[in-house]
Amino acid sequence: MNLKQTIDKLYNTNSLDEGEILFLLDNIDDSSLEYIRQKALETRIKYYEDKVFLRGLIEFTNYCKNDCMYCGIRASNKNAQRYRLNKDEILKACSVGYNLGFRTFVLQGGEDPYFDDEKVIDIISSIKEKFPSCAITLSIGEKSFESYKKYFDAGADRYLLRHETASKGLYKTLHPNMSFENRIECLYNLKKIGYQVGAGFMIGLPKQTNEDFVNDLMFLKKLEPHMVGIGPFIPHKDTPLHGEKGGDLKTTLTLLSIIRLLLPKVLLPSTTALGTIHPKGREMGLLHGANVVMPNLSPVEVREKYSLYDGKICTGEEAAECRSCLENRIRSTGFVTDMSRGDHIEWEK
Ligand code: SAH
Repeated sequence: MNLKQTIDKLYNTNSLDEGEILFLLDNIDDSSLEYIRQKALETRIKYYEDKVFLRGLIEFTNYCKNDCMYCGIRASNKNAQRYRLNKDEILKACSVGYNLGFRTFVLQGGEDPYFDDEKVIDIISSIKEKFPSCAITLSIGEKSFESYKKYFDAGADRYLLRHETASKGLYKTLHPNMSFENRIECLYNLKKIGYQVGAGFMIGLPKQTNEDFVNDLMFLKKLEPHMVGIGPFIPHKDTPLHGEKGGDLKTTLTLLSIIRLLLPKVLLPSTTALGTIHPKGREMGLLHGANVVMPNLSPVEVREKYSLYDGKICTGEEAAECRSCLENRIRSTGFVTDMSRGDHIEWEK
């Protein structure tokens, strides 16, 4: 099979074997990237028309007990200025978001032991009480099955937990004192409980190869998550990986298109990290198969402090400015902004 035939097979069957994915990644050139992009675009339009879903991201704590080598809010970074939002501040951010039309709130944070189950549950139920029409997505790391279940019962709808890399060896070098098996088990537990689940990985990690991406894609195909978050790794100055190169645009766009074809109905964000490595990165992401963007609803005073990587965009703008800026960007690609909850199309409550 040549490149075009491999892409046709992926488009027609939504699957490829490991050797075929590797062949595609090793040989993709500008014209085959354009070809797979068109197939990815056609596929997302078939299932989600020209809609782009917006999620309001609330970064509510940058305390973290973990020490991920790539992350700016890792526990050992003594230069990070730590903050936590309290329940009222979180509700305020939701209220600002609600008035701007948002119907999904993504609560993201480091793994902060201060927010024990009782506090998390209280936050979830308070948001649900005030905004019953809204979906809540949690992105707060690895917890026990019981904790995940309690959050779900309190009203959480979705959970984002990127697997980061599906290559165990690489995972171990990046995550001191964490277990690859546990992270994968968390994802299966979340699915079992009934969440809409998001996995995903970073692109351009030190020593990462196309074989590693094959592992990521095969893992995603097996897990069948409802959402997939991928983005370039971007070095942060206060981490051990500060001198590394980071991920590039072309590889990220190629992987977005492949994921759209492997999991045709998936909710696939065009991420802030992609917008950080290229001024039109998010627009290009949408044109390569992505169908979600996640503007920031965190209070402006804390934005700079949630610094996972250097150069993060949109840290100075109010929520309303972010929303209208993104709406313009979405329109410039020919898509339309959709402010509904934006559940996965096979989702039934
Ligand atoms: N504590 C939560 C949220 C982590 S932050 C959890 O464990 O899931 C959200 C995501 O940001 C991470 O999953 C990681 O993929 C990404 N991230 C962290 N540092 C990054 C960096 N330097 N460059 C790009 N993405 C990064």
